[in-house]
Amino acid sequence: MTKRDPYTTDAVRETAASICLLPPGGNFLKKAQAESGVNISACFGCRKCSNGCPVQFAMDMYPCQVVRYAQLGQEDRLKDCETIWVCSSCQTCVTRCPNDVDIPRLMDYLKETVAGERRPTLQKRVLQFHRTFLREIKTRGRVFEASLITRQMIRSGDFVNPGKVIKTARLGVAMLRRGRLRIIPDRVKDRKWIKALFKEERKPL
Ligand code: SF4
Ligand code: SF4
Repeated sequence: MTKRDPYTTDAVRETAASICLLPPGGNFLKKAQAESGVNISACFGCRKCSNGCPVQFAMDMYPCQVVRYAQLGQEDRLKDCETIWVCSSCQTCVTRCPNDVDIPRLMDYLKETVAGERRPTLQKRVLQFHRTFLREIKTRGRVFEASLITRQMIRSGDFVNPGKVIKTARLGVAMLRRGRLRIIPDRVKDRKWIKALFKEERKPL
């Protein structure tokens, strides 16, 4: 029996093919680091972030994997994952990280990119709420809960669902009784600062 050349076996070809499935990410890592300000390259994969994340059970990709895929430039995988919308920005991961990799900031950057590109996402309602929330901040500099709820109901289409309207109205009344809902909206005095902030946000760093 002749000995097979290890460099021409099917196994090697398969390995080569699987490597091709993960093409280099081009400029994504550089771009993401520059625009988000997060030192993604500093991660050495210890997984302390994922082990401490309180909502990782609901994620389709662990926080450490988000960082790893960013290092590998897997832009599409990141933009299509649900994890970026599930993250609650609690800061636990960045507190635990030995290299100060600011994962919530990276998640925010990815969310903003997806929202800006109007890319479809599996967590449609979270994206809708994200947009509604930012709209509120842009309008007054502060969230006015009554307006936030109304806008979100219109945006999500819940206003045509009588059951949801009644449920939300009951919740609103209960919050009013407990003094948790304001009737008159509050605004920040320096609205120019808010406008400048949103303008600055659109500029690449
Ligand atoms: S804790 Fe920091 S260094 Fe460790 S895997 Fe997470 S991001 Fe990377
Ligand atoms: S900031 Fe997000 S990723 Fe980090 S621990 Fe909190 S929920 Fe998890």
